[in-house]
Amino acid sequence: MKVLIAEDDLTSAHILTRAVSDLGYESDLARDGAEAWAKIERDDPSLVISDWMMPQVDGPELCRMIRRRPSAKPYIYTILLTSKTYREDRLEALQAGADDFLTKPLDLVELAARLTVAQRILSIQQELRDRAVQLELLKAELERRNLQLSELATTDGLTGLKNHRHFREVLEGNFALAVRRGLPLSVILLDVDQFKSFNDTFGHPAGDEVLIGVARALDGNARSHDLVARYGGEEFILLLPATDSLAAQALGERLREAIMAGPWTHRPITASFGIATTGQATLAPSQLVDEADRALYFSKQNGRNQVNHHVGLGMLV
Ligand code: GH3
Ligand code: MG
Ligand code: MG
Ligand code: MG
Repeated sequence: MKVLIAEDDLTSAHILTRAVSDLGYESDLARDGAEAWAKIERDDPSLVISDWMMPQVDGPELCRMIRRRPSAKPYIYTILLTSKTYREDRLEALQAGADDFLTKPLDLVELAARLTVAQRILSIQQELRDRAVQLELLKAELERRNLQLSELATTDGLTGLKNHRHFREVLEGNFALAVRRGLPLSVILLDVDQFKSFNDTFGHPAGDEVLIGVARALDGNARSHDLVARYGGEEFILLLPATDSLAAQALGERLREAIMAGPWTHRPITASFGIATTGQATLAPSQLVDEADRALYFSKQNGRNQVNHHVGLGMLV
């Protein structure tokens, strides 16, 4: 415990300093209130024993200055030294923020007892501060883990893309927004071609590598505001806000080419695409996905490795 003594009277200062040191505490002396304040700011003592009457800054004023320190700083236990025994003076000292008093002339046994009390209270204070810091650390850790968990809950474990559930949620929100703002919203659904035979020929782990590669091709070629998700098995889906059917088809074509381009080690990989865009007749988000699914089905029937938009199906089928 670092004890700062603020005392302008030389004799009293010497007695106090000696007594505090003899009791086993580290002590420092300031010869007036202003010097005491400078030392407080510099050294952060845990305890200040201050004389009442001092030039410039007196004891009560020093107490008030100590109490005005930012609450983040460690508490400074303050004992005012006074020859005053009047009730009014003690009240003033308490109001100024003193924790305790010692009357002059100094009773060394009483000093020892008061310092023991101070130390007990300061150590409780310190313990509380330590626990608060500990709690803050735990809180930060908890927040980090919660974030991690919510990431996990929306992410597909194999490809790192967003998962089906997350796509559904985002689709709901975007659909409502698109309707309200009168903006088009498109969906691209795609399915890897002949994937069962790939798995049967090269094994499931090699199939997994293909899915990761497809995810990378999609993610690398979509625009930053598009959502790319694994819809299930070897199906992927993209949500394209503020994108009309022409722009969606152009992107679909680019993605088809990116998947074809690989690089693939075992055999060429292709995918079939189905696209749908909101219009006057689109009533629900699920309808948009159904339409994309129908267009995808058409792509499969029509020879695979191609992109078809739902709006074109009427003319083709
Ligand atoms: P099509 O061109 O008509 O889509 O034919 P396909 O063989 O791709 O379609 P099918 O639905 O018959 O087979 C899908 C295959 O995808 C079967 C399944 O084992 C495989 N599959 C689904 N999920 C995974 C996965 O996570 N990893 C691997 N390696 N294979 C998967
Ligand atoms: Mg004095
Ligand atoms: Mg499939
Ligand atoms: Mg397939």
